[in-house]
Amino acid sequence: MAGESLIPATETRLGMTTQTLTLEQETNPWEAQAARFDEAALRLNLDAGLTKVLRMPAREIIVHIPVSMDDGTVEVFTGYRVQHSVARGPGKGGIRYAPDVSLDEVRALASWMTWKCAVVNIPFGGAKGGVICNPKNMSQGELERMTRRYTASLIEFIGPEKDVPAPDMNTNEQTMAWIMDTYSMHMGQTMTSVVTGKPVNIGGSRGRREATGRGVSIVCDEALKYLGMTVEGCRVIVQGFGNVGMHSAHLLWEKGYTIIGIAEWDGALFNAEGLNIGKLVEWKTANGTIHGFPGGEAVDKAELLERECEILVPAATENVITSKNAERLRCKILCEGANGPTTTIADEILFDKKVFVIPDILANAGGVTTSYFEWVQDRMGYFWTESEVNQRLERIMVDSFADVVRYATEHKVNNRIAAYMLAIDRVAYTIKQRGIYA
Ligand code: GLU
Repeated sequence: MAGESLIPATETRLGMTTQTLTLEQETNPWEAQAARFDEAALRLNLDAGLTKVLRMPAREIIVHIPVSMDDGTVEVFTGYRVQHSVARGPGKGGIRYAPDVSLDEVRALASWMTWKCAVVNIPFGGAKGGVICNPKNMSQGELERMTRRYTASLIEFIGPEKDVPAPDMNTNEQTMAWIMDTYSMHMGQTMTSVVTGKPVNIGGSRGRREATGRGVSIVCDEALKYLGMTVEGCRVIVQGFGNVGMHSAHLLWEKGYTIIGIAEWDGALFNAEGLNIGKLVEWKTANGTIHGFPGGEAVDKAELLERECEILVPAATENVITSKNAERLRCKILCEGANGPTTTIADEILFDKKVFVIPDILANAGGVTTSYFEWVQDRMGYFWTESEVNQRLERIMVDSFADVVRYATEHKVNNRIAAYMLAIDRVAYTIKQRGIYA
């Protein structure tokens, strides 16, 4: 591809023509990532060569995975692993299983991992994986065989010093245990540090399961302090009650925040006085859904996001806040527990509405930060207490929040562009020092 075509016209790069995007363009995660990257790179005055290097992923792997299904048939699933950058350390990032996984989505998620790891200044690059499948319709046996064959297909590309996967949507500690075991069988020795987010008894870190939610709760505390607000009277609405949403809501609730609403894929709950999140966690664990919980009123899940609150936490998936609903949001703070929940058009609307955005690459970085701790502990063979893990996480999240808001003030940009600028600056500096090998 000619160099020029990689760099769009200045107006687009500054977001001035984003209003003309179709909804399909607006919700393409790769375009969303690229638009923010372009704007930050331009503001940093990033060298044209480095801009080209950092704009594209370093490696994209596509695998077709044959799996023996329980009914005796063979199914072939398509899987991806994208390594966006390994400049600052091994690739790092989760693997998701979902029917709508696409290469563009995995590319965007891999780039976000590079920026996220750089924002919190941990020695990893960025990567992401995904398999197109519907895990809700698959048995444990089918999931295990698919996971093992996917791992085997990637065997030469992953490893403790190459690329270290972790859980993401619809993957969990069990999935990581299978990956670790498959990799170890191929290597002829147990190698726990090939993945993070494992069960604690086979090299997982204490605190990893709650870490993304804990990070969300820490940056909410920091935002309140920064904006001169208090936990008392702070109403929160959380979208998503999976690993990120549930632990975010639970930890915020324990800290005294009033969680007035929870939205899930199959319905939403509202209680102006605050939901008892301890009881809601028990309900979801027992019933597999928040549906029917007696402590709140059932409301429309899309409309809930538009209710008045101090903090809105989208903690589910991409493209939740778009040109279609951003205007109607009534939160003061948007804390992005999910990756890519806000589109570029929505960013502009929220900026005009003076919503304080804690961008995904900062807000949800608690997960990968504790993954880093897990990798370090595995390599040492020495494991920390949960309070040691949490203290270290707290320090990194507090410092990173301060770095991003300082960058935003100094460069007169919003928090999202500040986070990208900080991250791109760190990665570009490393590449400059290492030089381009050609
Ligand atoms: N999937 C998580 C994320 O998007 C965690 C990644 C990791 O721990 O490597 O940040």
